[in-house]
Amino acid sequence: DHARQNRQPFAVFERDMERRVQHNLALLGDLRRALSAEGELNLVYQPVLGCEDRRVTHVEALLRWQHPHLGPIPPGDFVPILEQSSLIQPLTDWVLDRALDEIGPLWRSERIGVCINVSPQNLVGRDFVGTVREALARHNLPTDALGVELTETQLMAQDSLGPITETLRELTNAGIKVWLDDFGTGSSTLVRLQQLPATGLKIDRGFTQNLAENRRNRDLVRISVDIARLLGLEIIAEGVETKSDYDAVSVLGCDAGQGYFIARPMPVDKLVDFVRESAPEARGSDTRAPALA
Ligand code: C2E
Ligand code: MG
Ligand code: MG
Ligand code: MG
Repeated sequence: DHARQNRQPFAVFERDMERRVQHNLALLGDLRRALSAEGELNLVYQPVLGCEDRRVTHVEALLRWQHPHLGPIPPGDFVPILEQSSLIQPLTDWVLDRALDEIGPLWRSERIGVCINVSPQNLVGRDFVGTVREALARHNLPTDALGVELTETQLMAQDSLGPITETLRELTNAGIKVWLDDFGTGSSTLVRLQQLPATGLKIDRGFTQNLAENRRNRDLVRISVDIARLLGLEIIAEGVETKSDYDAVSVLGCDAGQGYFIARPMPVDKLVDFVRESAPEARGSDTRAPALA
């Protein structure tokens, strides 16, 4: 805590800081290598399931790094370091390419698209939309196969929303989906939200848990749904860990859910099985008339 840190002699402080800087620099070097190495970086995919029909609407790509000496390092531990370096650009390019490569077949067979997480740095100072269009063309995929997610906190921390808004508008105009991630943890105002070219909001997992007992969370989900409706946005509940919470977010009006109760992030081969098994035709409860042979 602060009080204790403040009592540390400066030399200790300096040494800690130096160690952290060294660590971050080493990680950056390792990441640069990992980007061209085979197999260290991988993507896993977490399905998003419609609340009404309980079908997979799309999947979110999540980065995994298996460091050769340090083992698995979660994205929360290295993405923020990358974001302070120009390496965030090749990383996002890598994610984009890998995601389209792996999910392309699912788009063709099941119309299931993929969302990637992007940083604000990806959206300004270069032709992001051009990069995306080029990648889609290379994989022979239409724009509606792709979405991008940007956290509310990072977006609202921008000094000026102008340049990012412009990129987001180009993306949505092109048919690429734009999701405001971890909604509820940033400092959006209704005015700024209203000006934001977006497809929808993803309610942060901090608000979607213990809904049966936690009235405050219930109210926060309800208000988020109202805001989404008001602005004509779709809304996804993140971090759905129990059946009770999935039912609750469904009743409260969320369009879709994502979370451990539905599925954990998984490699693409597992995902293909998951999608097949969760299709209504594969369920015993299917009541539709059988297709004529
Ligand atoms: P996010 O985009 O909000 O992704 C959701 C995170 O919550 C993921 O963590 C996911 O594994 C986890 N999660 C999903 N369902 C549940 C649940 O039911 N309960 C709990 N407790 N957690 C759940 P992960 O994979 O560690 O990613 C953390 C964050 O790192 C992501 O948050 C995203 O902001 C960032 N990230 C991940 N991949 C990328 C990437 O390729 N590029 C960028 N720029 N950021 C990424
Ligand atoms: Mg996300
Ligand atoms: Mg999120
Ligand atoms: Mg998050």
